Amino acid sequence: MAAAIEVQLHKSKGQHLLTNQRILDKIVQKSAIKPTDTVLEIGPGTGNLTLNLVEAAQSVVVVELDKRMVEVLQKRVEESGVQDRLTVINKDALKAEFPPFDLVVANIPYGISSPLVAKLVYGARLFRSTTLLLQREFARRLLAKPGDSEFNRLAVNVNLVADVEFVMDVSKKEFVPCPEVDSSVVIIRPKAEVPNINLDEWWAFIKACFCKKNRTLGATFKQKKKVMELLGMFNLAGLNGEGKDYISSSDNDDDEGKSDEEEFSPSSCSEIGASSFKEKLIGVLKSGNFEDKRPSKLSNEELLHLLAMFNQKGIYFHDHS
Ligand code: SAH
Repeated sequence: MAAAIEVQLHKSKGQHLLTNQRILDKIVQKSAIKPTDTVLEIGPGTGNLTLNLVEAAQSVVVVELDKRMVEVLQKRVEESGVQDRLTVINKDALKAEFPPFDLVVANIPYGISSPLVAKLVYGARLFRSTTLLLQREFARRLLAKPGDSEFNRLAVNVNLVADVEFVMDVSKKEFVPCPEVDSSVVIIRPKAEVPNINLDEWWAFIKACFCKKNRTLGATFKQKKKVMELLGMFNLAGLNGEGKDYISSSDNDDDEGKSDEEEFSPSSCSEIGASSFKEKLIGVLKSGNFEDKRPSKLSNEELLHLLAMFNQKGIYFHDHS
Protein backbone atom coordinates (compact mmCIF):
# COMPACT_ATOMS: atom_id res chain seq x y z
CA MET A 1 0.00 0.00 0.00
CA ALA A 2 1.11 3.54 -0.68
CA ALA A 3 2.13 5.59 2.35
CA ALA A 4 -0.10 7.52 4.65
CA ILE A 5 1.59 10.91 4.67
CA GLU A 6 3.22 11.77 7.97
CA VAL A 7 5.32 14.71 6.87
CA GLN A 8 4.52 18.14 5.55
CA LEU A 9 5.27 18.10 1.83
CA HIS A 10 7.36 20.87 0.30
CA LYS A 11 6.55 21.97 -3.23
CA SER A 12 9.99 23.58 -3.52
CA LYS A 13 11.59 20.13 -3.21
CA GLY A 14 9.23 18.65 -5.80
CA GLN A 15 7.53 16.55 -3.12
CA HIS A 16 4.60 14.95 -4.95
CA LEU A 17 4.07 11.35 -3.93
CA LEU A 18 2.85 8.73 -6.35
CA THR A 19 0.10 6.80 -4.64
CA ASN A 20 -1.51 4.60 -7.30
CA GLN A 21 -0.34 1.01 -6.74
CA ARG A 22 -1.29 -0.04 -10.27
CA ILE A 23 1.07 2.60 -11.70
CA LEU A 24 3.83 1.69 -9.25
CA ASP A 25 3.47 -1.96 -10.32
CA LYS A 26 3.66 -1.04 -13.98
CA ILE A 27 6.81 1.06 -13.48
CA VAL A 28 8.50 -1.86 -11.72
CA GLN A 29 7.32 -4.38 -14.31
CA LYS A 30 8.45 -2.25 -17.29
CA SER A 31 11.86 -1.76 -15.69
CA ALA A 32 12.54 -5.52 -16.01
CA ILE A 33 14.45 -5.74 -12.73
CA LYS A 34 16.37 -8.97 -12.17
CA PRO A 35 16.62 -10.55 -8.70
CA THR A 36 20.38 -9.95 -8.82
CA ASP A 37 20.11 -6.23 -9.62
CA THR A 38 21.08 -3.21 -7.58
CA VAL A 39 18.60 -0.44 -8.27
CA LEU A 40 19.34 3.24 -7.74
CA GLU A 41 16.35 5.39 -6.81
CA ILE A 42 16.58 9.20 -6.73
CA GLY A 43 14.12 11.02 -4.45
CA PRO A 44 12.34 8.07 -2.80
CA GLY A 45 10.21 10.34 -0.62
CA THR A 46 8.23 8.24 1.84
CA GLY A 47 9.13 5.08 -0.09
CA ASN A 48 6.05 4.22 -2.15
CA LEU A 49 8.18 3.07 -5.05
CA THR A 50 11.08 1.91 -2.88
CA LEU A 51 9.03 -0.81 -1.16
CA ASN A 52 8.13 -2.23 -4.57
CA LEU A 53 11.73 -2.03 -5.78
CA VAL A 54 13.06 -3.85 -2.72
CA GLU A 55 10.70 -6.72 -3.52
CA ALA A 56 12.02 -7.06 -7.07
CA ALA A 57 15.75 -6.35 -6.69
CA GLN A 58 18.62 -7.74 -4.67
CA SER A 59 19.31 -4.30 -3.24
CA VAL A 60 18.19 -0.70 -3.56
CA VAL A 61 20.23 2.44 -3.06
CA VAL A 62 18.22 5.60 -2.51
CA VAL A 63 19.47 9.18 -2.69
CA GLU A 64 17.16 11.52 -0.78
CA LEU A 65 17.78 15.12 0.15
CA ASP A 66 15.18 15.48 2.91
CA LYS A 67 16.06 13.89 6.25
CA ARG A 68 12.40 13.75 7.29
CA MET A 69 11.64 11.63 4.26
CA VAL A 70 14.56 9.34 5.04
CA GLU A 71 13.16 8.75 8.54
CA VAL A 72 9.71 7.82 7.26
CA LEU A 73 11.20 5.60 4.58
CA GLN A 74 13.50 3.79 7.00
CA LYS A 75 10.62 3.17 9.39
CA ARG A 76 8.49 1.68 6.63
CA VAL A 77 11.30 -0.49 5.32
CA GLU A 78 12.02 -1.79 8.82
CA GLU A 79 8.36 -2.60 9.33
CA SER A 80 8.53 -4.69 6.16
CA GLY A 81 11.70 -6.40 7.42
CA VAL A 82 13.69 -5.60 4.28
CA GLN A 83 16.09 -3.02 5.71
CA ASP A 84 19.10 -5.21 4.85
CA ARG A 85 18.46 -4.63 1.20
CA LEU A 86 18.31 -0.83 1.43
CA THR A 87 21.14 1.71 1.46
CA VAL A 88 20.26 5.34 2.10
CA ILE A 89 22.35 8.26 0.90
CA ASN A 90 20.96 11.39 2.56
CA LYS A 91 22.32 13.89 0.01
CA ASP A 92 21.49 16.03 -2.98
CA ALA A 93 21.44 13.65 -5.96
CA LEU A 94 23.21 16.21 -8.13
CA LYS A 95 26.15 16.37 -5.71
CA ALA A 96 26.30 12.78 -4.41
CA GLU A 97 28.66 10.27 -5.93
CA PHE A 98 26.58 7.29 -7.02
CA PRO A 99 27.80 3.83 -6.03
CA PRO A 100 27.70 1.11 -8.72
CA PHE A 101 24.17 0.17 -9.81
CA ASP A 102 22.53 -1.87 -12.57
CA LEU A 103 19.58 0.35 -13.29
CA VAL A 104 17.73 3.44 -12.12
CA VAL A 105 14.02 3.50 -11.34
CA ALA A 106 12.66 6.75 -9.93
CA ASN A 107 9.92 9.29 -9.65
CA ILE A 108 12.25 12.24 -9.43
CA PRO A 109 11.77 15.85 -8.32
CA TYR A 110 11.08 17.55 -11.66
CA GLY A 111 13.24 20.56 -10.85
CA ILE A 112 16.41 18.51 -11.32
CA SER A 113 15.36 16.58 -14.45
CA SER A 114 17.81 18.10 -16.88
CA PRO A 115 21.03 17.97 -14.82
CA LEU A 116 20.09 14.55 -13.45
CA VAL A 117 19.52 13.01 -16.88
CA ALA A 118 22.84 14.54 -18.00
CA LYS A 119 24.58 13.16 -14.90
CA LEU A 120 23.24 9.69 -15.62
CA VAL A 121 23.76 9.43 -19.39
CA TYR A 122 27.13 11.19 -19.39
CA GLY A 123 28.26 9.96 -15.99
CA ALA A 124 31.02 7.54 -15.14
CA ARG A 125 28.72 4.71 -14.08
CA LEU A 126 27.61 2.11 -16.60
CA PHE A 127 24.01 0.98 -16.30
CA ARG A 128 21.45 -1.07 -18.20
CA SER A 129 18.50 1.29 -18.14
CA THR A 130 16.93 4.26 -16.37
CA THR A 131 13.17 4.36 -15.85
CA LEU A 132 12.04 7.86 -14.96
CA LEU A 133 8.76 9.52 -14.18
CA LEU A 134 9.13 13.01 -15.63
CA GLN A 135 7.11 16.12 -16.29
CA ARG A 136 5.26 15.32 -19.52
CA GLU A 137 6.73 18.23 -21.52
CA PHE A 138 10.24 17.20 -20.50
CA ALA A 139 9.56 13.58 -21.47
CA ARG A 140 8.23 14.75 -24.86
CA ARG A 141 11.46 16.65 -25.47
CA LEU A 142 13.55 13.59 -24.68
CA LEU A 143 11.46 11.57 -27.11
CA ALA A 144 11.45 14.20 -29.88
CA LYS A 145 12.98 13.50 -33.26
CA PRO A 146 14.57 16.03 -35.64
CA GLY A 147 11.84 18.20 -37.13
CA ASP A 148 9.47 17.81 -34.15
CA SER A 149 8.66 21.11 -32.47
CA GLU A 150 9.96 19.82 -29.10
CA PHE A 151 13.31 18.74 -30.55
CA ASN A 152 16.07 20.70 -28.84
CA ARG A 153 19.62 20.62 -27.52
CA LEU A 154 18.72 18.24 -24.69
CA ALA A 155 17.23 15.72 -27.13
CA VAL A 156 20.29 15.93 -29.36
CA ASN A 157 22.71 15.40 -26.51
CA VAL A 158 20.78 12.56 -24.90
CA ASN A 159 20.20 10.88 -28.25
CA LEU A 160 23.89 10.86 -28.98
CA VAL A 161 24.49 8.34 -26.23
CA ALA A 162 21.10 6.80 -25.39
CA ASP A 163 17.76 5.62 -26.77
CA VAL A 164 14.58 6.80 -25.08
CA GLU A 165 11.39 4.75 -25.02
CA PHE A 166 7.95 6.04 -24.08
CA VAL A 167 6.21 3.87 -21.46
CA MET A 168 3.03 5.66 -20.38
CA ASP A 169 1.39 8.91 -19.43
CA VAL A 170 0.49 9.47 -15.78
CA SER A 171 -2.15 12.02 -14.82
CA LYS A 172 -1.33 14.65 -12.20
CA LYS A 173 -4.33 13.28 -10.25
CA GLU A 174 -2.25 10.24 -9.29
CA PHE A 175 -0.01 12.34 -7.03
CA VAL A 176 -0.41 13.71 -3.53
CA PRO A 177 -0.49 16.67 -3.46
CA CYS A 178 -1.71 17.12 -7.03
CA PRO A 179 0.98 18.99 -9.01
CA GLU A 180 0.25 21.51 -11.77
CA VAL A 181 1.67 19.35 -14.53
CA ASP A 182 1.02 15.89 -15.94
CA SER A 183 3.74 13.27 -16.11
CA SER A 184 5.06 10.51 -18.35
CA VAL A 185 7.25 7.51 -17.78
CA VAL A 186 10.20 6.89 -20.11
CA ILE A 187 13.03 4.37 -20.18
CA ILE A 188 16.48 5.58 -21.18
CA ARG A 189 18.92 2.94 -22.40
CA PRO A 190 22.58 3.68 -23.16
CA LYS A 191 23.47 2.95 -26.79
CA ALA A 192 25.69 -0.04 -27.39
CA GLU A 193 27.95 2.08 -29.54
CA VAL A 194 28.65 5.73 -28.97
CA PRO A 195 30.51 7.91 -31.52
CA ASN A 196 34.17 8.26 -30.62
CA ILE A 197 34.28 12.02 -30.15
CA ASN A 198 35.48 14.58 -27.68
CA LEU A 199 32.32 15.34 -25.71
CA ASP A 200 33.36 18.84 -24.64
CA GLU A 201 33.78 19.67 -28.29
CA TRP A 202 30.42 18.12 -29.20
CA TRP A 203 28.52 19.95 -26.43
CA ALA A 204 30.09 23.29 -27.37
CA PHE A 205 29.31 22.69 -31.05
CA ILE A 206 25.68 21.77 -30.32
CA LYS A 207 25.34 24.82 -28.07
CA ALA A 208 26.62 27.03 -30.87
CA CYS A 209 24.29 25.48 -33.48
CA PHE A 210 21.22 25.48 -31.24
CA CYS A 211 21.51 29.01 -29.81
CA LYS A 212 18.46 29.69 -32.00
CA LYS A 213 17.32 26.23 -32.98
CA ASN A 214 15.05 27.33 -35.83
CA ARG A 215 17.49 29.78 -37.36
CA THR A 216 19.47 28.59 -40.38
CA LEU A 217 23.06 27.62 -39.66
CA GLY A 218 24.15 30.20 -42.21
CA ALA A 219 22.49 32.97 -40.17
CA THR A 220 23.84 31.59 -36.88
CA PHE A 221 27.43 31.40 -38.07
CA LYS A 222 27.36 34.85 -39.68
CA GLN A 223 26.69 36.52 -36.34
CA LYS A 224 29.56 38.77 -35.39
CA LYS A 225 29.69 37.49 -31.82
CA LYS A 226 29.90 33.88 -32.95
CA VAL A 227 32.52 34.64 -35.61
CA MET A 228 34.72 36.49 -33.12
CA GLU A 229 34.37 33.79 -30.47
CA LEU A 230 35.34 30.99 -32.83
CA LEU A 231 38.06 33.09 -34.42
CA GLY A 232 39.61 33.64 -31.00
CA MET A 233 39.81 29.89 -30.47
CA PHE A 234 41.01 29.28 -34.00
CA ASN A 235 43.92 31.66 -33.63
CA LEU A 236 44.74 30.36 -30.17
CA ALA A 237 44.79 26.75 -31.34
CA GLY A 238 46.97 27.75 -34.28
CA LEU A 239 49.45 29.64 -32.14
CA ASN A 240 49.67 26.73 -29.73
CA GLY A 241 50.38 24.48 -32.65
CA GLU A 242 47.40 22.37 -31.77
CA GLY A 243 45.04 21.16 -34.37
CA LYS A 244 44.21 17.55 -33.87
CA ASP A 245 40.87 16.28 -34.98
CA TYR A 246 38.53 16.18 -32.03
CA ILE A 247 36.29 13.91 -33.93
CA SER A 248 37.48 10.65 -35.33
CA SER A 249 35.84 10.84 -38.68
CA SER A 250 35.45 7.58 -40.47
CA ASP A 251 34.30 9.32 -43.61
CA ASN A 252 37.26 10.02 -45.78
CA ASP A 253 35.18 11.66 -48.43
CA ASP A 254 36.79 15.01 -47.97
CA ASP A 255 39.31 15.43 -50.72
CA GLU A 256 40.47 18.71 -49.26
CA GLY A 257 42.25 17.06 -46.39
CA LYS A 258 45.73 18.11 -47.46
CA SER A 259 45.01 21.79 -47.78
CA ASP A 260 43.46 21.73 -44.32
CA GLU A 261 46.74 20.65 -42.84
CA GLU A 262 48.46 23.53 -44.58
CA GLU A 263 46.10 26.00 -43.02
CA PHE A 264 46.77 24.37 -39.73
CA SER A 265 50.51 24.43 -39.59
CA PRO A 266 51.69 26.87 -36.93
CA SER A 267 53.74 28.85 -39.46
CA SER A 268 50.71 29.72 -41.57
CA CYS A 269 48.50 30.05 -38.55
CA SER A 270 49.44 33.52 -37.61
CA GLU A 271 46.24 35.32 -36.90
CA ILE A 272 43.64 35.58 -39.63
CA GLY A 273 41.08 38.37 -39.81
CA ALA A 274 37.41 38.24 -38.97
CA SER A 275 36.10 38.55 -42.50
CA SER A 276 38.24 35.79 -43.95
CA PHE A 277 37.40 33.59 -40.97
CA LYS A 278 33.70 34.23 -41.51
CA GLU A 279 34.15 33.15 -45.13
CA LYS A 280 35.90 30.05 -43.90
CA LEU A 281 32.96 29.22 -41.62
CA ILE A 282 30.41 29.79 -44.36
CA GLY A 283 32.62 27.87 -46.79
CA VAL A 284 32.39 24.80 -44.53
CA LEU A 285 28.61 25.13 -44.30
CA LYS A 286 28.30 25.55 -48.07
CA SER A 287 30.55 22.64 -48.91
CA GLY A 288 28.35 20.34 -46.81
CA ASN A 289 25.13 21.95 -48.02
CA PHE A 290 24.33 23.09 -44.48
CA GLU A 291 23.98 26.85 -44.96
CA ASP A 292 20.20 26.85 -45.29
CA LYS A 293 19.58 24.00 -42.87
CA ARG A 294 18.11 24.49 -39.42
CA PRO A 295 19.73 22.57 -36.55
CA SER A 296 16.36 21.44 -35.19
CA LYS A 297 15.84 19.43 -38.35
CA LEU A 298 19.21 17.69 -38.52
CA SER A 299 19.93 14.13 -37.45
CA ASN A 300 22.84 13.38 -35.15
CA GLU A 301 24.68 11.83 -38.09
CA GLU A 302 24.39 15.09 -40.03
CA LEU A 303 25.51 17.12 -37.01
CA LEU A 304 28.48 14.79 -36.43
CA HIS A 305 29.40 15.16 -40.08
CA LEU A 306 29.26 18.95 -39.88
CA LEU A 307 31.40 18.99 -36.74
CA ALA A 308 33.97 16.77 -38.44
CA MET A 309 34.06 19.17 -41.38
CA PHE A 310 34.63 22.16 -39.09
CA ASN A 311 37.34 20.33 -37.16
CA GLN A 312 39.08 19.33 -40.37
CA LYS A 313 39.35 23.01 -41.21
CA GLY A 314 40.87 23.69 -37.81
CA ILE A 315 37.66 25.24 -36.44
CA TYR A 316 36.92 24.19 -32.87
CA PHE A 317 34.10 25.04 -30.51
CA HIS A 318 35.56 24.12 -27.15
CA ASP A 319 38.43 26.10 -25.79
CA HIS A 320 41.12 23.47 -25.34
CA SER A 321 44.04 25.88 -25.02
N1 SAH B 1 9.52 8.88 -5.39
C1 SAH B 1 8.54 9.27 -4.40
C2 SAH B 1 8.65 10.76 -4.04
C3 SAH B 1 8.73 11.72 -5.17
S1 SAH B 1 8.78 13.38 -4.61
C4 SAH B 1 7.15 8.89 -4.84
O1 SAH B 1 6.97 8.58 -6.00
O2 SAH B 1 6.22 8.90 -4.04
C5 SAH B 1 10.48 13.77 -4.93
C6 SAH B 1 11.45 13.45 -3.82
O3 SAH B 1 12.74 13.90 -4.19
C7 SAH B 1 11.14 14.15 -2.51
O4 SAH B 1 11.20 13.18 -1.47
C8 SAH B 1 12.25 15.19 -2.34
O5 SAH B 1 12.60 15.42 -0.99
C9 SAH B 1 13.37 14.53 -3.08
N2 SAH B 1 14.38 15.47 -3.62
C10 SAH B 1 14.19 16.75 -4.04
N3 SAH B 1 15.33 17.26 -4.53
C11 SAH B 1 16.27 16.29 -4.41
C12 SAH B 1 17.65 16.21 -4.73
N4 SAH B 1 18.29 17.25 -5.29
N5 SAH B 1 18.31 15.07 -4.47
C13 SAH B 1 17.67 14.00 -3.91
N6 SAH B 1 16.37 14.02 -3.58
C14 SAH B 1 15.66 15.14 -3.83
